[in-house]
Amino acid sequence: MARPDYVICMECEAEVDEFTWRGGEIRAAECEVCGNHDPDAFALPEEYADEFDEDDPEDLDVGDLDLEDEYEEEDPEDEE
Ligand SMILES: [Zn+2]
Repeated sequence: MARPDYVICMECEAEVDEFTWRGGEIRAAECEVCGNHDPDAFALPEEYADEFDEDDPEDLDVGDLDLEDEYEEEDPEDEE
């Protein structure tokens, strides 16, 4: 993966362009806004966008329906 132009600070959502990129991942970064300097607490711009996609309400509805079906099948009152 190519080095991105910037990374996202997951603590304050600031764009940080001062970071060390090696082996396809963030090795070091420092946020000037909140002082965060934990490489694990920074996200790539495309990864950050993916997280927003998971908030799609249609996807959440499908998951909720599946869980309700399982509970109904395991209802002990139906067996007696
Ligand atoms: Zn920050």
